[in-house]
Amino acid sequence: MKKTVRDIDVTGKRVLVRCDFNVPMQDGKITDDRRITSALPTIEYLVDKGAKVILMSHMGRPKGEPKPEFSLKPVADRLSQLLGREVIFAPSDTVVDDKVKETAAALEPGQVMMLENVRYRAEETKNEEPFTGQLAQLGEIFVNDAFGTAHRAHCSTAGLAKYMPSVSGFLIEKEVKFLGDALENPERPFLAIMGGAKVGDKIPVIENLLKKVDSLMIAGGMSYTFFRAMGYEIGTSILDEESIDLAKDIMDKAKASGVELLLPVDTVCAAEFDNDSEKGVYDRDSIPADMMGMDIGPKTIELYRGAIAKAKTIVWNGPAGVFEMPNFAEGTKAIAAALADSGAVTIVGGGDSAAAAEQFGYADKMTHISTGGGASLEFLEGKELPGILCLEDK
Ligand code: AMP
Repeated sequence: MKKTVRDIDVTGKRVLVRCDFNVPMQDGKITDDRRITSALPTIEYLVDKGAKVILMSHMGRPKGEPKPEFSLKPVADRLSQLLGREVIFAPSDTVVDDKVKETAAALEPGQVMMLENVRYRAEETKNEEPFTGQLAQLGEIFVNDAFGTAHRAHCSTAGLAKYMPSVSGFLIEKEVKFLGDALENPERPFLAIMGGAKVGDKIPVIENLLKKVDSLMIAGGMSYTFFRAMGYEIGTSILDEESIDLAKDIMDKAKASGVELLLPVDTVCAAEFDNDSEKGVYDRDSIPADMMGMDIGPKTIELYRGAIAKAKTIVWNGPAGVFEMPNFAEGTKAIAAALADSGAVTIVGGGDSAAAAEQFGYADKMTHISTGGGASLEFLEGKELPGILCLEDK
């Protein structure tokens, strides 16, 4: 167990807090502020305790150079509205400079400041000096609350821990609790649903989950690689050629370890990768040569609904079809709905499945939606995340 902000005296201290404010932006406006609202509990706690709060984050990929389109200023403004208090923005092309140091040193208890995008500095993603040391000069305690970047060892996510007492914020605490409990202490039956485009990307996660789950359900683009491994023709469906053997291996391992492996039995196919393309439903052993699988079919939806209803813990990562196109979104929608109705502990991995749960209006019904796509996958793989590993143990 890692220490959290509750386990350390922060009153009157300058506390450097790494958040994940990597919000989507369009024309200089924030289009989704969930990452900012997710950080509020930790920031509000620190303010209430009279800490001097110094916020850090990255946004986008400025690639080690100051680029105004990646400035965190709009985030500081939005956070200020949400907190109902001033957030002092510290603009600097080098993130830390003399003026920024003065501003940090002059903070009063309960005041909040925000540094410029840490990825303006080339050292950040390499976890190199002198940037880590410069950041360290600003504060006395390091709080990591950026789950979305916890799988990266960067200056602001892990490097700072060498310099000062380091603990987690409430968001990381919550992610570790839900993802950790699901993996280590699940109420059974435990079902994992894996979807998305490529099998290759998810093999390590599937291998780790096979050791933990009672059932594994495959959906989405990766199904076709499994169909190929089973000897079926898949027309022009997405195929991860290099992973055919790995798919066979997964089928063998599931059998050997007594894990129920559920694969789609039918599929909605289209002539083109286009929402308005001609479409039809085909059993998995009769996909036409000139069509591609775009979604799970109605028989599969029924089968999967039944399996979901029986589970007590469900981890879902990856859509069941090309859900961005309304004509191929039924399967993903049905899975999200079945999870929402299941009464099970439901954990949705970040990224596309989180977006789908949100888009179809089921986000509130899930037990936990992870804020980190890559980070939640690495966690489910069983890897230790450097941004968490570096924090003090209780
Ligand atoms: P991933 O990042 O691997 O979780 O993949 C998510 C993407 O997989 C989404 O953009 C989906 O549109 C895509 N996807 C899901 N099913 C299919 C499919 N049958 N064919 C092509 N792409 C798919």
